Amino acid sequence: RPESGALIQAIGITKLFGSFKANDSVDLTIRPGEIHALLGENGAGKSTLVKILYGSLQPSEGEIRWKGQPVRIASPSAARKLGIGMVFQHFSLFDALTVTENIALALSDRSNRTALAKEIEKVSLEYGLPLNPASRIVDLSVGERQRVEIVRCLLQNPELLIMDEPTSVLTPQEADDLFQTLDRLTARGCAVLYISHRLEEVKQICHHATILRLGKVVAECDPQQETASQLASLMVGADVHVL
Ligand code: ADP
Ligand code: MG
Repeated sequence: RPESGALIQAIGITKLFGSFKANDSVDLTIRPGEIHALLGENGAGKSTLVKILYGSLQPSEGEIRWKGQPVRIASPSAARKLGIGMVFQHFSLFDALTVTENIALALSDRSNRTALAKEIEKVSLEYGLPLNPASRIVDLSVGERQRVEIVRCLLQNPELLIMDEPTSVLTPQEADDLFQTLDRLTARGCAVLYISHRLEEVKQICHHATILRLGKVVAECDPQQETASQLASLMVGADVHVL
């Protein structure tokens, strides 16, 4: 099953919590430049799977391949070194500090604040993520805080960016801005693993979808070829032929 041209592959990933299987022989293949949706109801195992890909959990069984090579992603810093970034649902930013100060804390290799502020400006312009590096986090909207998180990831040149429910905290306008940023990223070959419950937006922006139910992959599809209600019935497992 290893596939040439894949950026990252999860092969037969099982994750046990005690005797409970949160992931059950999951296969997932992500190709460069695609936005790959990971769908499933609450408890389906999506966050568990992305934590394994980001090195914050270890699988009980199975293999991860990065560009065809088996790898052990022992920690989030190992994931970042490979080229995997993750934007969290709940941002861990220090309110009293500035954008630059927060990013400097997260990226221990950026000791020159002036150079870092310039880099932040460059990346935010390049990817359509307007930010003032000198702003304090406390003065930023939720959408702007998410931009700080995304910029922090992009400064490490990820080839895979994982986003867990990124639009759940955004206004419709902020969500549209995020989709433009994702377009720019994927145009440069970066892949995105995109968790969302919003099936209309998945249909709008994702090129491929893997659907989990009770820890297992139950379907893979091109979400643009499915209706939102077909996607929803794959998630809940209703054998519904939508009328
Ligand atoms: P999703 O992100 O799709 O909502 P999760 O991956 O968070 O699903 O969780 C899948 C299942 O695994 C849930 O039933 C959850 O309660 C369980 N689970 C997740 N993390 C743990 C843990 N650390 N210990 C025990 N059970 C867990
Ligand atoms: Mg989750």
